[in-house]
Order: sequence, then C-alpha cells, then structure tokens
Amino acid sequence: MEEIYNELRWNPLLGSWIIVSSGRKRRPWRRGECPFCPGSPETGYGWEVLTLDNRYPALRPDAKISRESNDVYKVEPGYGYCKVVVETPMHEGDLCDIPLETLVKYLRELARVTEELCKDASIQYVIPFRNKGEEIGVSLTHPHSQVYALPFIPPRVAVEMRNMEKYWRDKGECLLCHILRLEREEGSRLLYVNKGFTAFLPFFAMWPYEVHIYANRHVGKLAELSSEELLDLADSLKVVTAMYNNLFGFSLPYMLIFHQRPCKVEAEYFHLHLEFYPVHREKDKLKYAAGIEWGAWTFTYDALPEEKACELRAALKRAINALKNGGYDPRGKPIS
Ligand code: ZN
Ligand code: ZN
Ligand code: FE
Repeated sequence: MEEIYNELRWNPLLGSWIIVSSGRKRRPWRRGECPFCPGSPETGYGWEVLTLDNRYPALRPDAKISRESNDVYKVEPGYGYCKVVVETPMHEGDLCDIPLETLVKYLRELARVTEELCKDASIQYVIPFRNKGEEIGVSLTHPHSQVYALPFIPPRVAVEMRNMEKYWRDKGECLLCHILRLEREEGSRLLYVNKGFTAFLPFFAMWPYEVHIYANRHVGKLAELSSEELLDLADSLKVVTAMYNNLFGFSLPYMLIFHQRPCKVEAEYFHLHLEFYPVHREKDKLKYAAGIEWGAWTFTYDALPEEKACELRAALKRAINALKNGGYDPRGKPIS
C-alpha cells in the first residue's frame, strides 16, 4: 500500500507553512451517489446537521513526515484535523434554502467543533469555511462546510491579529468595533443590519462583491454568542446568500470564512467576523487573483466599492421579497 504523508514545509522567504500531503486520492464515489445524503455509509439517519471526519485529510493527528528537516528547509508533521460539517439532509441548495432553526444548529455545531478541537494541546487555530460552486472546485453539491484545526496561526489571521492588537493598544478600542462605527457613519456600503450583526461591503474590499458580517457586540468567537445572536447570525447568512443568488440570477459561487479568536492566545482585542469572497466580477466574468494579486499580494478593484454596494442592495431588495414570498420573515432591515 502507498504510504500517506502529511507534513508542513516551511517557506523561509515568506515565513509561512505549506500543508503537504500525499496519497489524497479522490474518493471513489459512484456516479449519482451522494456521500452526505442521509442513509449513505457514513451518514446514517436521524440527523439535521452532521460532522464527519474528512476521509482524506490534509492534516491528521497521526501525521507521518516523508523526510527530515535540512537547514532552512524545515519539516514538521501535518498535525491537525479536517472535518466536514453537513449542513442539512437536503441534497441541494445554499444557506438561504436551509430553515433558520437548522442554520442555528449548524452554527452551534461550528462553535462546538471549534471548542472541542481547540482543547487539543497542539492546536493553535480552528477555521471553519465554506466553498461553494464549481468555479471554486467544489463538485459535491450537498451543502457542507469544512473545519480545519491547525497547529499554527495562519498568516492572514496573524496579520489581522497584529493590527487589531496594535489598534487596541494605541487607541484603547477594538479596530472592528471602530470599523463598524465608520461603516454606519458613512452608510454607503452597508447592506443588511439586524440586532446582532451587520453585513456590508468593506471600504477595503479585495473581491468585487466581497461582504463582511461583523458581530455588533465585541465577542471573539461563535461560542460566546447568545441564542438571540445565533438567530441573528443565521438570519444574516440566509439574507446575504439570498442576495448573492439574486445578483445575476444564478447561484453565485463564493468562499465564506469564519475568523474567530485563536485557541491559546488570550486575544481580548479579537472581534468575531465572517468574510464572503465571491469570485465573479460580472455575470459572465470571473475575477482572477492573477499576476499582481499573487505576485505582489496587491489587489486591484475595478470599480468603486460604493457602486458595487449599490448593485448588491438592488439584489438584496429582490432577495428579501423572494424570502418573504417563501414565508420567511427577516429579523433585520436592508439598508437602501
Ligand atoms: Zn446529498
Ligand atoms: Zn470589537
Ligand atoms: Fe478577517
């Protein structure tokens, strides 16, 4: 049998880890057979939201390395966990198609999994994310998210932490609470607000239709949300994904990432938020992270964010009407 290796390789130029794994072959699905539907060998029956182990994980607790370190070529075991959270027994759809109560269960499950994996002494960061659409390489249509538990704090989060901490120290205030205030003051990029959460296209968006959802209260992670706030976050997810799917008249591919406080650092300055990155820039055109974006880590934005926010507001209006026609009563207000 072929050996399976899971290791971290250090990029000494960028000062960051690459997760390397071999033998991660595609699951041998038979055509038409969904691994996440109720009654499959792994799922069984009688659940609404279900967490599974990724069968071919990038990280694993029994990781084996293929070689030793050599000088600045550092190698460490790819220790960690990769989970799949099946969001609903329904085979098709987006978050907006899932009943609110099920979405709350989904969020509670993400919170539970985060807390559980954070307890592992070697885990530094747990990151739930959701990839949707073939453009992002997702072939399984059954609604699901993933959770990676990492033995290090990933670079993007580390950068956010550095800047949040600096702002907290210099100004005695949370940077994201401050951004929330600025977005409310300027108003031109706000999209949807309920009691617990605010959705907006950020001043500093990198993707054309990027949307962030911030907790209105200064909380660091999902596990700190009240029952009412979980309902509000579920409501925000429902409305924002319905908005996306009303933008061009087709189900819009996106990445969704949950940024929570790290496991071991007492980061009081950290403020829970979600980030949506849709990859379209027009109905039939994708925004590629290409030469300047990858080679320089500098994003170009080919419009004014305020213009894109206007487009999203029009889609939001249609989405709210559609949700209401479907019998759903939104907990917040669209901004127009
Ligand atoms: Zn299915
Ligand atoms: Zn805050
Ligand atoms: Fe973030």
